[in-house]
Amino acid sequence: MDTKEFIDLEDLFGAHNYHPLDIVINRGKGIWVWDVEGKKYLDFLSAYSSVNHGHCHPRIVKVLKDQGEKLTITSRAFRNDQWPLLAKELCESTDYEMVLAMNSGAEAIETAIKAARKWGYQEKKIPQDQAEIIACSNNFHGRTVTIISFTTEPLYRKDFGPFTPGFVVVPYGDAGALEAAINQNTAAFLVEPIQAEGGIIMPPEGYLRKTKEICEKNNVLFIADEIQTGLGRAGKLLACEYEEVKPDIVVIGKSLGGGCYVISAALSSREILGLFKPGEHGSTFGANPLACALAREALRVLIEEKLVENSEEMGNYFLEKLKTIKSKHIKEVRGKGLLIGIELKKEAGGARRFCEDLKEEGLLCKETHEHVIRFAPPLIIKREDLDWAFEKVNLVFQRAEN
Ligand SMILES: *Cc1c(COP(=O)(O)O)cnc(C)c1O
Repeated sequence: MDTKEFIDLEDLFGAHNYHPLDIVINRGKGIWVWDVEGKKYLDFLSAYSSVNHGHCHPRIVKVLKDQGEKLTITSRAFRNDQWPLLAKELCESTDYEMVLAMNSGAEAIETAIKAARKWGYQEKKIPQDQAEIIACSNNFHGRTVTIISFTTEPLYRKDFGPFTPGFVVVPYGDAGALEAAINQNTAAFLVEPIQAEGGIIMPPEGYLRKTKEICEKNNVLFIADEIQTGLGRAGKLLACEYEEVKPDIVVIGKSLGGGCYVISAALSSREILGLFKPGEHGSTFGANPLACALAREALRVLIEEKLVENSEEMGNYFLEKLKTIKSKHIKEVRGKGLLIGIELKKEAGGARRFCEDLKEEGLLCKETHEHVIRFAPPLIIKREDLDWAFEKVNLVFQRAEN
């Protein structure tokens, strides 16, 4: 079958809840992927930061095979030998006391919301069913009905109501607005250190530190969604480290499975996560031995191959290079680590056509919102590959000048 046949088949039988670039990938290795025609591309999206270790990392694939032949799913009706080790290793490497594992990012966000509400009722003594959680405008935390109840993106909400009550939205980047929105029923503040889906939006410097202080002063939990920014993507293990903020709850996912599987987690203190009693929350697949074995190896690779450091170094290098591009279409180039966005001026006609052009040049990336091109290559990427990518980006922008 060729590209067109795959696309026709997908569009006939698969629901159209995405608008992918028209490339059908059937193989990946490191930073590279190949389409069904055999054409090679540099992956500059990393499956929205799920493939930070690169495609089919040999050490992680080995664990996939070994654990896959040994034990995969047990459910939590029984204990398995991988979850205790992952729980310990994850807590030790992030300096938290307890962890609850789920599968998708959205489920881990739901976990954080439930933990915060429970803490609100049991510890803060908020009257039953009155707990409020404050989120930010332009957020992205997932797609469940509860999570879209506090999105400000109309596309994510239309025709999906009624919505879950108990959420308040304040402008992102405005610490004063958070302070003003807090009342005695506020249980938590939920925030992304950098809004990745929102267009690589970075809050003003000091925002995370200031909002953390406001939360402490008011006995409100600070929850960081680091599903995309965490595990090295933004140049630190957790992006909150840039402002020396330690969230009360931090949520991770995406590359936690090493690009080979799905696993997410909410990390916190014993005081907070310890409030969950048997039966109150869970997932059949959560903390399964296959996911846990893969996450353990993914963490080891992250540390031993110094991917966090590489992200910071290569990110700075690439950001500076991108800033040298002279184009009438570029409004701003910004980012941290290997999470970089080029925001285009409105007159440029949207980021999509640039992504289409880059695809033709062998560089795969995706617009986020209408006017931002996101660059997020696997964290294993080397300088020479970034130089190659830069040539392509520069070429596409020079061509668009005329
Ligand atoms: C991807 C993402 C999510 C949702 O994760 P899923 O695995 O798609 O449910 C939540 N928050 C952020 C910041 C994300 O990037």
